[in-house]
This record gives sequence, structure tokens and C-alpha cells, in this order.
Amino acid sequence: MDTLCLCNGYADGRYVLPPLPYDVAALEPLLDAETVLLHHTRHHAAYVDGANAAAAMMRQVALGELPEKAASVAAEHLAFHLAGHMLHTLYWGNLCPTPGQQPCGSLADAINTAFGSYDGFSRVFRAAAAGVQGSGWAILAKDAMSHRLVVLAAHRHQDALLPRMRPLLVCDVWEHAYYLRYHNNRAGYIDAFMNQICWHSVAKRFNHNEENNHACCK
Ligand code: MN
Repeated sequence: MDTLCLCNGYADGRYVLPPLPYDVAALEPLLDAETVLLHHTRHHAAYVDGANAAAAMMRQVALGELPEKAASVAAEHLAFHLAGHMLHTLYWGNLCPTPGQQPCGSLADAINTAFGSYDGFSRVFRAAAAGVQGSGWAILAKDAMSHRLVVLAAHRHQDALLPRMRPLLVCDVWEHAYYLRYHNNRAGYIDAFMNQICWHSVAKRFNHNEENNHACCK
């Protein structure tokens, strides 16, 4: 499996933690095994659990088993945890054990159209990721209004859920993603991240039908 699909994060009526598409030690030199293990089995798993708990709470309100005021709490929690679950699923799928890939084909063309060159894109994406205040994400997305590629910066997780913005490539800049190896050198992590992007997966998402974000399903 060279990519992770969002559909791998849901099974039998529940959100589930998808297995990594590689060994926890496979992302060297970008990330050490301990970072990947903790990030996947603790942080990502917590978002899965949180999404299930919030969804259950929402159903209880719908059934009259909880007061209506619980709905706003459930909705806030579901937005945060489900967005976290989705973004992490995309994140693992857009990393690659083999360094040094480059975008090609229609994706490369779209990058050139939007940013002038790969270097132009890299300059924007790295700076956007480095500049996120506190915890958040840098996201390369396809804007359904212009049909062009855009780079977005998002705080927390759910702030990335902009209408009709389809995330293609996401970089987690929460400290848990890099602190064990890079300490406060976020820029060092981002530089290494740029060198281990699975552009094959990003291209699949880019080329997939507009109405379906399940890039690897078809
Ligand atoms: Mn994370």
C-alpha cells in the first residue's frame, strides 16, 4: 500500500485508526520510530476515539437521551477530532520511505501554473508551515472555485475544513510531530518533510474525481 485513503479511517459504523502503510522506522531520516509510533498510536488514535465519542454524544442528543445543550459540545468535539483524524490519515499517506521524489505530470503542471515552479511552491509551503502560530497544519489544496492549487495555513485541525477545499498534501506542525528529533527547530523538520513527500499519493488525490476525496479507492 503506497497511500492511505480516507475510507480506511471508517469501518463497521465507527471511526478506526488505519494501519500505517509502512514500518514505524521506515520514515528515516525524516522521522524516528518513536516519534512515528507515538504520533500514530497515541495522538492519531486519540482523535479517532474523540470522534467516536462525539458522534455517540450527538446520537444521544438526537434520541433525546441527552439534553439539547450537549449538541453544541458534541459538534465542537466532532469538528476537532474528526478533522484531526482525517488530516492525520492524509498525513501518513503523503509521506514516503523513499526520499527525493518530485511531482510530475498534470500535478507538476498545476504546481507550475499556481506557483511558477516547484521551487516557488516549496518556498511558499515551507514558509506557511513554519509560520503557523502554535499548533496547526500547512495544506496544499485544490480550490474548487478557481480549480487552482493553493497553500493554506490552519490552526488546530478543524480550521482546515474550508468549504470545497480538497487537501492534497498536509504537513503537521503540531510539536508532537517533530519535537523528539528536531526540538524547537520546526524549519529543520519542514525541510526534511519536503524531501519525503509521496508525490504519487498527492497526484492520485489531485487527479481523482472532484466529488470524491477517496483518492486511492478507485
Ligand atoms: Mn499530529
